Amino acid sequence: MSAAAMGPLRGYLDEAMGFITEWMNEYGPSTPHPTQEVDADAFHGAFEELTTRLRANYPFFHPRYVGQMLKPPHPAAVVGYLTTMLINPNNHDLDAGAATTRMEQECVDAIAHMFGCRAHRQAMEGKNGSSASFGVPHDDSEHESGMCHLGHLTTSGTVANLEALFVARETHPRKAIAHSADAHYTHGRMSHLLNVPSVAVPTDSRGRMDLVALERLISAGGIGTVVLTAGTTGLGAVDPIDKAIPLCRKYGVRVHVDAAYGGFFRLLAEEGDDLLAPDVAAAFRAIDEADSVVIDPHKHGLQPYGCGAVLFRDPNVANFYDHTSPYTYFTSGDDLHMGEISLECSRSGASAAALWMTLQLLPLTREGMGEIVAPGRRAALAWAEKLRNSEVFDLYQEPDLDIVSYFPKGDSLADVDRRSGAILTNGMKAPRDESLFVATYQVKPDDMTNRGHDVPGEAPEAGARILRSVTMKPETEPLIDDIHAAVEKLARAVDA
Ligand SMILES: *Cc1c(COP(=O)(O)O)cnc(C)c1O
Repeated sequence: MSAAAMGPLRGYLDEAMGFITEWMNEYGPSTPHPTQEVDADAFHGAFEELTTRLRANYPFFHPRYVGQMLKPPHPAAVVGYLTTMLINPNNHDLDAGAATTRMEQECVDAIAHMFGCRAHRQAMEGKNGSSASFGVPHDDSEHESGMCHLGHLTTSGTVANLEALFVARETHPRKAIAHSADAHYTHGRMSHLLNVPSVAVPTDSRGRMDLVALERLISAGGIGTVVLTAGTTGLGAVDPIDKAIPLCRKYGVRVHVDAAYGGFFRLLAEEGDDLLAPDVAAAFRAIDEADSVVIDPHKHGLQPYGCGAVLFRDPNVANFYDHTSPYTYFTSGDDLHMGEISLECSRSGASAAALWMTLQLLPLTREGMGEIVAPGRRAALAWAEKLRNSEVFDLYQEPDLDIVSYFPKGDSLADVDRRSGAILTNGMKAPRDESLFVATYQVKPDDMTNRGHDVPGEAPEAGARILRSVTMKPETEPLIDDIHAAVEKLARAVDA
């Protein structure tokens, strides 16, 4: 996001004020209570202090920030969020979030459709009857195949995964949850929270779940649910979902797909699109066969934090959400409220409006949001090629998505670790207009040898640091040559 791209914001902030004033005036005069009036100078002072403190952030917006999976939201999301926040609806129920709950349903429909679900209303079908939007056809005849019959937005991927694992525990009681060793740490943590044992399945030399190990594990019994990851947070590795699902079905095991990171790459996975490797694309296309899926619009979907989503194949999972609320639901009759199918109670209506507004302009199509994720994928491919041919770096593994892993050549793992650390800090310390922000990733000696890298020596206890870069901003693609040159220069300077 360039500073120029934020341009429309100023005007729309003004329009938002205009709208809200007009709307409020329709209800006649109301004045804020004097206790809320604050001194204008004090207000200004606090603002000055805020903006001073905010300078401590790294420049997530800049193409040379390729550290973590961070980027500013789209101006449309900001306008949607801020305008709605002035009203502050709560998507717990249709009374508190009359407009934004419908927007949330439309967003969830669009996500379901993206994953290959033949669109139909969710459990709200026939109840409140609003038609599907974003060009998603409304078709009641397609209930058999495809997942995503019930879903909602959440505050985060963590809560979305918690809900999926909670439902998994209810459908497969007294059974364990298996996830890959490279899955997000939240799966182990949430299993613990749910009092369900969890097992880590080893990964192969691409950081993907090892299917031989998986079958050995589930054929022995005791596993109720397998979590497959579509884009690990560390390396962006995509588990072979298409091959794992038949295995899981064979043993009666439930399947949850954690696509918090990679979900939007589904837009690049149609047959004939060659930006993803064929096996990766096939994995994405199989997500519609899973029992549940999680996606984080606040990662690739250009949303401010506070926007995850969980979708379930079977709408009957709503029955697990034991729920009655004597103090909400006044006006909306039999319509289903989001609070009835969500573990979270209050949820931001503004967050739904932000996503809805974004999807009006960048729908979940190859030409819409697909064009937002494609440049990052192309950038990763181009950079990987340069790293493979570099004199100072080795490519750690082929990127499945838009996360590139690589390491400075060194005499030993300790040397690789030291050099990686120096590149990270020296890149950040450079003058602002030349700075480069990468990230590190810890690997064990076996991780290196499994990938054919022959680097001798012991790794530090936590593992040796290598480098990891996330090329998720479209703006990074045209700068890949410069970024590669900059990181090579930093590497060469370590010994100089
Ligand atoms: C980010 C992420 C999570 C956690 O989601 P939050 O939105 O950070 O809570 C879970 N799984 C994967 C694969 C992720 O990338």
